[in-house]
Amino acid sequence: KHQGMSKQHMMEIRQLNCQPMTMKVTYYKSPVFIHQGHMQWLWDTDGKRYLDFFAGVATVSVGHCNPKVTAVAVAQMKRLWHTTCIYVTPPLQEYCEKLASLLPDPLKVVYLTNSGSEANDLAMLMARLHTGNHDMISLRGSYHGGSQQTMALTSNSAFKYPVANGGCTATMCPDVFRGPWGGSHCRDSPVQTIRTCDCPQGQCMANDKYIGQLDETFATSLPSRVAAFFAEPIQGVGGAVQYPKDYLKQAYQRVRERGGVCIADEVQTGFGRTGSHFWGFQGHEVMPDIVTMAKGIAGGFPMGALVTTPEIAAAFSKGAHFNTYGGNPMACSIASSVLDVMKEDGTQQNSLVVGTYLLTELAKLRDKHEIIGDVRGKGLQIGVEMVEDKVSRTPLSPAAMNDIFEETKDMGVLIGKGGVYGQNFRVQPPMCVTKDDADYFLAVFDRSIQNYMDRR
Ligand code: PMP
Repeated sequence: KHQGMSKQHMMEIRQLNCQPMTMKVTYYKSPVFIHQGHMQWLWDTDGKRYLDFFAGVATVSVGHCNPKVTAVAVAQMKRLWHTTCIYVTPPLQEYCEKLASLLPDPLKVVYLTNSGSEANDLAMLMARLHTGNHDMISLRGSYHGGSQQTMALTSNSAFKYPVANGGCTATMCPDVFRGPWGGSHCRDSPVQTIRTCDCPQGQCMANDKYIGQLDETFATSLPSRVAAFFAEPIQGVGGAVQYPKDYLKQAYQRVRERGGVCIADEVQTGFGRTGSHFWGFQGHEVMPDIVTMAKGIAGGFPMGALVTTPEIAAAFSKGAHFNTYGGNPMACSIASSVLDVMKEDGTQQNSLVVGTYLLTELAKLRDKHEIIGDVRGKGLQIGVEMVEDKVSRTPLSPAAMNDIFEETKDMGVLIGKGGVYGQNFRVQPPMCVTKDDADYFLAVFDRSIQNYMDRR
């Protein structure tokens, strides 16, 4: 039986009173009315069950309403919800110590926020104060937030509004599938693409070309000096875009030579999602100066964080920096419990095992269907790049994307969409998913694509 207020009434309210984004966009043509969740499962208001392979955009790291985390949250809620961070509360200190222990030296100073945008905003401010420089560089196709500052950094026009761009410049994204150079062996993924390039074995010339583009950005596009270079270790909203193996290493070096700091946006890739490492940047063998995180950090409870070095944190020593909710006891105890569950349940290892299985099986679907151009990613940070055909690599039309997306949902599986042209299906489930769940998703996805091909 349908739960709660009628669907029609909800849609009327959504049109009249809800934030503009919800007025313009319902993610699905026929919207999903979500009522309840448990681990990798969601139920709508009619009681229909969905396998959640998007996890609220890679947010529900250890499962919806994870019973262990929920028990901790309920206990904390009965004890204390809030004081400001001007007092000392045990959950905040406990959490900061635990989080800092998971990052390499000298990344030991933690700032707690309530979202990823706030964490990135803070990172921009900190980089500018620390370096005395103003300019920011990000990669095309990136998403770093929706605040005015982080929107400037975001380089995907679907999420940008014509406001001042605040000293932000985007350089060419070293995307070896859509970019002009490179092939699958340039990147660190368990699967190879159909696209190969002419680089001699073990020598990625594409990387040099993309680094050349960064050099050109320095030479031509910055009004002053670089304060920071922002990159996600694997792009999320961009559609699991992976860079040539040495790109970040060389980019970091160039930014530092010019007096800037390097920032890893781990909002999607952190907390073991990439499987091979706890932090995405570790997969690139780089050492950021600032790491920002959110989403999976508290499994869906609003929270974000920035971790940096004592030297950079000193940029704030001159004055006050205050955040009413940042580090509140509810968020800290939940985030702390999320870390415990990750350890107890081995979620990073599960991301690696189930993720690699998914990538391998998706690569078979890629070989079967003309409209899958590329399968990429690591662990449970996966993108399936859809094309009109494998030769032209023209992004699959929005109408076709929607058809497949809608039918996948109707068959009970929720996935995401991404990519600059909306051409990428994103597979980022909670890290508790099993191989059986993967098989279910694969069967549904295969069928949706086949049905579309049969209609076309
Ligand atoms: N960085 C990345 C990589 C993200 O994917 C997002 C959210 N999609 C953000 C930052 C912003 O996080 P929030 O929505 O919590 O502000």
